[in-house]
Amino acid sequence: MKVAVFASGSSGNAIWVSSASTAVLIDAGVSARRISQTAEGLGLDATELSAVLVTHEHSDHVSGLGPVTRRFDIPACATAGTHAAIDRRLGKCPGRTIVEAGTDFEIGDLLVSPFAISHDCAEPVGYSVSDGRTTVVVATDLGVVSRPVRDRISRADCVVLEFNHDEQMLRDGDYPWFLKKRIMGIEGHLSNEAAARELVSLGDGPMSALVLAHLSRENNTPDLALTTARDALERAGRPDVEVHLAEQDRATGPIRLGLDAQLTDVTTSTGVQVSCTR
Ligand SMILES: [Zn+2]
Ligand SMILES: [Zn+2]
Repeated sequence: MKVAVFASGSSGNAIWVSSASTAVLIDAGVSARRISQTAEGLGLDATELSAVLVTHEHSDHVSGLGPVTRRFDIPACATAGTHAAIDRRLGKCPGRTIVEAGTDFEIGDLLVSPFAISHDCAEPVGYSVSDGRTTVVVATDLGVVSRPVRDRISRADCVVLEFNHDEQMLRDGDYPWFLKKRIMGIEGHLSNEAAARELVSLGDGPMSALVLAHLSRENNTPDLALTTARDALERAGRPDVEVHLAEQDRATGPIRLGLDAQLTDVTTSTGVQVSCTR
């Protein structure tokens, strides 16, 4: 499988996940044009996309959703609550497909498992995406890591995990108190420290790659996030895990996983059918 983070942070999010024959985009918080151009720059073909999997309705995750679904003629998969919230703000999306946390569905040869996360919006989910051999988990925009989320992370080969802020920087920074409280709350964003605690308990799971994502520009630095993650992996006895940094204005990847790590050629997909739950 391949994972590429096209953009990550409060100004826009989009993550490419693909198997040998199926590609999906997780969130479309950047323009359709940028999706096409970034894909091309990374040697990927955006016309192969089969769906957008939407995590939640905040604009940094959906601002490009209408144009992206129209340009590539693909459905937007989201929970009922997220769709309703998007409809109110952006109008009804074409190819609207409703998914549910805890109910797996297939897109081409990918098995997609949405899971509930804690964030201040209607009905947010993270996604686990697997080709049957390799599993990628995307968990950003979450205030806490619940046990089911922890279980997903521990079984994944690649995790895109939120490292939003350094707790000290946020406390000492210029944000108004209500905003600090929102970010630190259980429906806010995951701090470097909270994300690192998850890594310490990783054990000998399959994780081979970790992507630090949704970093705050104001309350974090790439160095702090990287150091915190690497220290935690060291303490977990897992210095073997490759650590990548997702950025707001520059793409990361493609990170090659499983069989794809050994392949140089990519098989392209044609006519992939999407079969969501309802
Ligand atoms: Zn966000
Ligand atoms: Zn959000």
